[in-house]
Amino acid sequence: MAEKPSEKEEEYFARMEFERNKKIEDEKHRKLLGEERKRLAALHHMRCPKCGLELIEIDYKGIKVDKCSECEGVWLDAGELETVSKLEQGALDRFFGVFKK
Ligand SMILES: [Zn+2]
Repeated sequence: MAEKPSEKEEEYFARMEFERNKKIEDEKHRKLLGEERKRLAALHHMRCPKCGLELIEIDYKGIKVDKCSECEGVWLDAGELETVSKLEQGALDRFFGVFKK
């Protein structure tokens, strides 16, 4: 099935926006001194990027998922979203079942 031109445009603009912001962040990272980077890592390690409270790591079939103990946001490390997206429907249902209350 052919993609609609607007979908390709959206993909293009999303990629451009990411690349523009990545350049800005890379520049900021270069300016951060070693000690400041260590301080930030210690402050934010295993903390929710939204509410700042502790994340709980759940290891399910080798995918380590971090779930916030407060707002219940779910965070994935690099490459894990691709891994999750390749699960077949049954495995996907069991994966999300782990997080149900
Ligand atoms: Zn949170």
